Amino acid sequence: MIRQKIVAGNWKMNGSKASISDLVNGLLEISESSAEVVVTPPFPFLSQVAEMIAPRNELVLAAQNLSQYEKGAYTGEVSAAMLTDFKVTYVLVGHSERRSLYGETDDVVAEKVKVALSAGLKPILCIGETLEEREAEQTLLVCERQVAAVIDLVGIQAFANIVIAYEPVWAIGTGLSASAQQAQDVHQAIRANLASLSTPVSEKVQILYGGSVKASTSAELFTMPDVDGALVGGASLDAKEFLDIVKAAG
Ligand code: PEP
Repeated sequence: MIRQKIVAGNWKMNGSKASISDLVNGLLEISESSAEVVVTPPFPFLSQVAEMIAPRNELVLAAQNLSQYEKGAYTGEVSAAMLTDFKVTYVLVGHSERRSLYGETDDVVAEKVKVALSAGLKPILCIGETLEEREAEQTLLVCERQVAAVIDLVGIQAFANIVIAYEPVWAIGTGLSASAQQAQDVHQAIRANLASLSTPVSEKVQILYGGSVKASTSAELFTMPDVDGALVGGASLDAKEFLDIVKAAG
């Protein structure tokens, strides 16, 4: 089955009005691509980026997080409905930094996926093992547990509208990337796990790899049959480097 590749840039907590304007202008130099290209600015810049990319159809807007609650007395939080109001299409859910620094449990992550789906947003569900877990050969177990928490709440069919990002924690922001084959092995196992519940859903779901992806490593990564794109942190802050990754994706 042919799945469209997605290359998503996660800008994390970086940028200013001026630098984001420069970055988006650089990205708008994009040449035609078969991949879907997603940008994920910090919340305050969503409106600015939405306006800049609206006249052209080449970039798709994502947010880095959302609240698991619909609305109300949740100071500092951002709801799913607010994101759709700003023309956001995708939302990262359960990024490892949210899990490790802000205590997001598998259950909270599942709740967030649920509210995102109800609002018509497409969650990019981030999963992945720590170095300790990899060394203890628990990689697949951890990924399965993180996905199972979401399946338990929203059901397997909902994964037709969910993107999975496999991001080994030890590879995020460390310069240590999983090899293309290591990524493929985990992606294949994740897909096989979904297939045990629904083959059509498992064939449709796009599984991105994330963890120190650079232009120089992306070409090999994208030849892997179960790698459907990349979630890119550091390298997405450089328009040329990011566009080179997009080019490698097709
Ligand atoms: C990320 O934040 O999702 C990520 C993969 O970061 P980096 O590319 O910098 O490792």
